[in-house]
Amino acid sequence: MNLYSGHINHLIDELAALPGIGTKSAQRLAFYIIGMSPERVNSLSKAITDAKAHVHYCKYCQNLTDTEVCPICGDPKRDHSTIMVVENPRDLAAYERTGKYTGVYHVLHGAISPMLGIGPDDIRLKELIARLAGDTVREVIIATNSSLEGETTAMYISKLIKPAGVKVTRIASGVPVGGDLEYVDEVTLLRALDGRQEL
Ligand code: ZN
Repeated sequence: MNLYSGHINHLIDELAALPGIGTKSAQRLAFYIIGMSPERVNSLSKAITDAKAHVHYCKYCQNLTDTEVCPICGDPKRDHSTIMVVENPRDLAAYERTGKYTGVYHVLHGAISPMLGIGPDDIRLKELIARLAGDTVREVIIATNSSLEGETTAMYISKLIKPAGVKVTRIASGVPVGGDLEYVDEVTLLRALDGRQEL
């Protein structure tokens, strides 16, 4: 039974397709949006289309940015010889919030998961390897999550880049098993970084 008109159903379906939004939340959001002023609705839809049109991956670290090179990679005060590898931009943001990490990053946009059919070519690994050409990079710190996928990815990267003679380290566990870095407090993140061990 179709309770609502086609337009409302369409909006609900689009919202429900977003991660973490169930049908009930999608309905609530849809009704809220319909109740908003036309100006606010325009501003919301413009924010979405503008972000999609202008945001892309940094040419070096693959983080999301408005510019060709992100502010972190473009900062000469950062230590460009140390690269921290994270699964997603939210994990990068978590380490940036500590204000203590001075190196640069590499964002994989995912983790290897044989169960989900996600292989090394499906994440931004080639781009990391490309950054190791030349002799700028001295250490790669693997800060993928401590989930099965995160550990699999860490092992894969370590095997891949160790022959290149780059020091490869893994952040210490202290980050709870299966825990996403973005939910971990700053003290724990820094302890994990300080306690990193060579792979
Ligand atoms: Zn960058």
